[in-house]
Amino acid sequence: MLKDSFGRVHDYLRISLTDVCNFRCAYCMPDEAISFMPAAQLMQANEIDKIAETFVKMGVKKIRLTGGEPLVRKDVAEIIHLLSKYPVELTLTTNGSRVDDFIEVFEKAGIKSVNVSLDTLDKEKFSLITRRNVFDKVIGNINLLITLGFHVKVNAVVMRGINDNEILDFIAWTKELPIHVRFIEFMPFAGNQWDNEKVFSYQEILDVVAAQYSYVRLKDDKNGTAKKFKLLNHAGSFAVISTMSAPFCENCNRMRLTADGKMKNCLFSKGETDILSAYRNNEDITPLVEKCVIEKKEALGGQFTTDRIDATTIENRSMISIGG
Ligand code: SAM
Ligand code: SF4
Repeated sequence: MLKDSFGRVHDYLRISLTDVCNFRCAYCMPDEAISFMPAAQLMQANEIDKIAETFVKMGVKKIRLTGGEPLVRKDVAEIIHLLSKYPVELTLTTNGSRVDDFIEVFEKAGIKSVNVSLDTLDKEKFSLITRRNVFDKVIGNINLLITLGFHVKVNAVVMRGINDNEILDFIAWTKELPIHVRFIEFMPFAGNQWDNEKVFSYQEILDVVAAQYSYVRLKDDKNGTAKKFKLLNHAGSFAVISTMSAPFCENCNRMRLTADGKMKNCLFSKGETDILSAYRNNEDITPLVEKCVIEKKEALGGQFTTDRIDATTIENRSMISIGG
């Protein structure tokens, strides 16, 4: 069992498959010229499999594939297949653009739940945010997932002045469809033009919803990041991921592997542990993983608090190269 120095059991691993993406969301990609990791630097499918096996032996119960966009990786179907043999809840976060190409792979692998990121229900705005003109495709793929019985969470990063005026549209969307919308507070990462004013907070989101609807708070998941709510007579639900205004670090059970095989014990950790190089040198990675977990800081990677934040002091990668 992987326990950190604050007694938190770590049983959830998020694996980034690539830092490449077919979208260009400005809040995620750095604004300087993008240079993706060379292929040889990435964990290969068999390496992901074997490294994941070690984590499973150490108590991991849930694995999420992410990126960049996991579904642009050429061998993603093979990776999903390889990981499906482990006794874990296997899932993924995707921008939704290629879901239809992989739906049978998901079904065969026993994937039950998929997170799709979608920040706007307005087709024009979608093109502005993502720099890609595939809104209808993403909506079609969300509908496909629902029709086939997947549990679908839709992640929307709420940014002041960009999409905070769409909160009620997202809520209305959950009336007929079993969609679980998760409003995410905008977080600072390298090169993403973040500033305090752009964060539309948990409380502000609730105020917007409360002006039009009455809702009840649902019981939090044991290690959940989301504060969940239900509206009467809505097929779906909504939640808020309040990283910036009300972090949930005290119940954190997450570890991350970047696509180049570096372990991060927190989304905001400064330090990284080079698991892939150790694996390639035939070293036992178990003690490295344990040490990385033990070194985890109490909250927010030890880099900031919820007071006013100077994002320029935060040392981290861009979100796209961490794997969200
Ligand atoms: N490409 C996939 C996708 O978009 O879902 C997976 C990777 S993406 C980095 C994972 C999640 O991180 C997405 O839901 C995205 O909206 C979120 N994200 C990216 N940058 C963020 C930021 N600055 N603040 C909050 N969430 C962010
Ligand atoms: Fe790509 Fe997802 Fe980042 Fe958008 S949020 S640029 S879809 S990795």
